Amino acid sequence: MIVSVFGCGYLGAVHAAAMADLGHTVIGVDIDESKIEALSAGAATFFEPGLPDLLKSGIERGRLVFTTDIREAADADVHFIAVGTPQTPGSYAADLSYVRAALTAIAGIAKPGSLIVGKSTVPVGTAAELVEMLEDRAPDVSLAWNPEFLREGFAVKDTLEPDRLVYGVVAGDRGVRDAAALDAVYADALAAGTPRIITDLATAELVKVSANAFLATKISFINAVSEIAEVAGADITALADAIGHDARIGRKFLNAGVGFGGGCLPKDIRAFTARAEELGRGSSLAFLHEVDVINQRQRQRVVEHAVRLLGGSVNDRRIAILGVSFKPNSDDVRDSPALDVAVQLKGLGAHVIATDPEGIENACRRHPQLTYEPSVNDALVDADLVVLVTEWDEYRNLDPVETLKITRMNNIIDARNVLDPANWREKGWTYVGIGRP
Ligand code: NAD
Repeated sequence: MIVSVFGCGYLGAVHAAAMADLGHTVIGVDIDESKIEALSAGAATFFEPGLPDLLKSGIERGRLVFTTDIREAADADVHFIAVGTPQTPGSYAADLSYVRAALTAIAGIAKPGSLIVGKSTVPVGTAAELVEMLEDRAPDVSLAWNPEFLREGFAVKDTLEPDRLVYGVVAGDRGVRDAAALDAVYADALAAGTPRIITDLATAELVKVSANAFLATKISFINAVSEIAEVAGADITALADAIGHDARIGRKFLNAGVGFGGGCLPKDIRAFTARAEELGRGSSLAFLHEVDVINQRQRQRVVEHAVRLLGGSVNDRRIAILGVSFKPNSDDVRDSPALDVAVQLKGLGAHVIATDPEGIENACRRHPQLTYEPSVNDALVDADLVVLVTEWDEYRNLDPVETLKITRMNNIIDARNVLDPANWREKGWTYVGIGRP
């Protein structure tokens, strides 16, 4: 098939490269010229394991091109929308202007009988609004919603081998035809037995935001309990292991720590509450506000631990921050808890030296006031306190003995609960985790 992907960011670039890998001819379209230039040269514009190889092979085989000229996408059978839906400044609602602009652009070039497929995460009701827009502009073109569940850091695998496919389609024959077109796009995944759920448009939109709201709630649940564990002298990790054995609960997403961040979960739960308000059902999702508050408080808790460990003030103290990206195996620093902690400590007068295997460039663009060291050893030099905030393997595997030779003092906050407290204490460290005795 001929496939276009509008929006070549974290989601769209991977989707485009993966679609080419599946044998489709793909035109990636973005309004950002520098992004298109880099992608056309086979260079990923962000860190995502496996993406550079996929880009190169797609381009070399002549199946993948990137352009800013939307007319090059005119022959596509299927147009994916993968543009951003960020939080609107000053509001919790999602900013849908990029989605509307992409739809308008596609409607202007799409051939009759082609299909537009939304992948961006949108508030429920958005697709219905877009269907109306399309009826005015290109009545022969269909719209479906196919939410994306990929995880940054595993995006290539998640796109090539999704754990489920959800198609939201319009009613009637048209919806049947649209679902068949999506089946052709995802033929390999379907042949491999990937579950496929076909719904109406509203359900497909809601599936995505509900999944993210559930994950966020799970994380904030364990973090809230970790606060109780901390004052009660209990161990949140053992507790999570114990309740996680219950198949109804499950162990995943029950790791207490500095909380969630990134370009999805925080803005998605806020947009969900904003949409609930618009629908006159704000109280049904009021708990998500508390999920958000708990999550923000985790960052504060880490800062408070730092102040306490350094005797009541971090002013003029040297603090090594291990990690700036919002999660390991990603360079994404959007709403990163790690970066937030670093900025707060800097604001309290600390000399913050932040390090990260991949995220420094992005972090530096947002927060040039921080000092960055690409090498973890350089960041650790003479530190009064080490704060592990993003659980990259190289930080998980730090040797407590070697680390103590580099730092000035022996204080460590394990804001992801990934180190062995007994081992670090035995080697002379004052270890503080989240909700660990
Ligand atoms: P991003 O900001 O990395 O990428 C968005 C891209 O869209 C940018 O490159 C931007 O230049 C481009 N764009 C904006 N307007 C355009 C237009 N009119 N035509 C063509 N390109 C345009 O964002 P992202 O992280 O890739 O997220 C995109 C969407 O996917 C969001 O709705 C997000 O919630 C959703 N999503 C993201 C992930 C993820 O892990 N990043 C996972 C699932 C869903």
